[in-house]
Amino acid sequence: MSEIYFSDAVKLRTYQNAGLQCQCVAGCPEHPKGRCMVFIWHYHEAHYYPIDPDGSDDIHNCQMLCLRCHRNAEARSAAPKADI
Ligand SMILES: [Zn+2]
Ligand SMILES: [Zn+2]
Repeated sequence: MSEIYFSDAVKLRTYQNAGLQCQCVAGCPEHPKGRCMVFIWHYHEAHYYPIDPDGSDDIHNCQMLCLRCHRNAEARSAAPKADI
């Protein structure tokens, strides 16, 4: 597993493209249906997460998540698959 680091330029573009709102569509407990839409007031406060963990570090593979969704995403990726 390789870590992906997005550049500030990619983060800023992703932030603007997202309309300043969390892009999570993973169906977290906080938003079981549809997109999260939580507002993030500064792009430094958002978390940037690769859509494809093995993908590239460009804007097409970058999604912006709020803190809660980022925690949920980390928990999902850390959870052993057999646990379901
Ligand atoms: Zn969110
Ligand atoms: Zn979410």
